[in-house]
Amino acid sequence: MYRHEIDEKNKILELWVRRKRGNRKLECSRCGRKFSDAYDSNERAVRDLPWSEFKTTVHIEMYRVKCPDCGVKLEKVPLLPSKAPFSKRFEEAVGQACESASARQVARHFRLPESTVRAIDLRYLERWTTARRKPALRQMGVDEIHLGKKQKFLTVVCNLETGEPLWFGRERKKETLDEFFQRELNARQCRGIEVACVDMWEPYRLSIEQWAPSCRIVYDKFHIMQHANDAIDEVRREEFFRKGGRIRGLVKGKRWLLLTRWMNLAAGKRQELNQLFALNRKLFKAYLLKESLDRLWMYRYEGAMIRYLQSWMDQLRWQRLRPFQKLAEMLLDHLDGILNYCRTKVPLGVVEAVNGNIKSLLRRGRGYKNLHYLLLKAQRMAATRTEFVVFKKAA
Ligand SMILES: [Zn+2]
Repeated sequence: MYRHEIDEKNKILELWVRRKRGNRKLECSRCGRKFSDAYDSNERAVRDLPWSEFKTTVHIEMYRVKCPDCGVKLEKVPLLPSKAPFSKRFEEAVGQACESASARQVARHFRLPESTVRAIDLRYLERWTTARRKPALRQMGVDEIHLGKKQKFLTVVCNLETGEPLWFGRERKKETLDEFFQRELNARQCRGIEVACVDMWEPYRLSIEQWAPSCRIVYDKFHIMQHANDAIDEVRREEFFRKGGRIRGLVKGKRWLLLTRWMNLAAGKRQELNQLFALNRKLFKAYLLKESLDRLWMYRYEGAMIRYLQSWMDQLRWQRLRPFQKLAEMLLDHLDGILNYCRTKVPLGVVEAVNGNIKSLLRRGRGYKNLHYLLLKAQRMAATRTEFVVFKKAA
């Protein structure tokens, strides 16, 4: 350091640094060739970690080299990973802060514009992902996330073994998933996929059968229970749509209660549900059907699973619960993929967890227009969770 300035009033510290003579091993930033002499030099100001409560700027003397291959180029400086005016450790600090707080909060803390924080975070995540090893894909999950009326659907592919999202695609057509197989995997990697957990959604199945024909398709609990939730919601709407005033008021806001499992409800909430069921037996029956379908995945033998499904469908008789009859038909049409759960054990709840993480990111961040950024963010989230679990185990 050969110069410093301190602005006590505005809490700003500025430092000027340069390397000692004789300590110059310069590297071409494009090809990595080494040089001992500089072509010329100039100064670059970057923001560094704060010193005490002082916002700190470091002015660094930078050199250019005259490379026979690349021409006149800036030297490579590992501490300055990008053209942006921030040191690497400053970017790391901002990136780490973004892991547990929203970009808006981090922006306020570091006194930076929100767009700058996002750009730093993106570079931080990109550096992380290029440096790590990516495990092979043997068990894949495919799911869709509903983004809203305008953007509609997002197709999410994840690795069930690592719990990490791998790829996002707009919409949920066969072509959407085709793109994943085409762009992200080679033929050998496609053959390596043993099992895929998907929703009972025809386009996905068709795509998987085309690109990974040896892969077994499993319709897992999470997806089927989503359909059961849709069915009970439909019963609720059908039953209470025509009811006026007082009763409609009672039903209002009870939707999530019906979608929540009984064992997860507090006593007060259970009572609210019971009041609702006292008004309408059909809804009560539908709730019991939804709750008992869950038990289908306790069975480990195909025969037992079929028997349970049969007895579940027997309960539908004479009930006139159209949405559940439709669900039963759907289950029969996809029976093979449901039974595949007995043949190939896949971890339950992974697709659900990945889905939940992405939704919480979307809620927190609002407007992830850049899907690449959203994906990196979700991957980092999954990876740090695993690291945390491993750490806890070791301790
Ligand atoms: Zn060069």
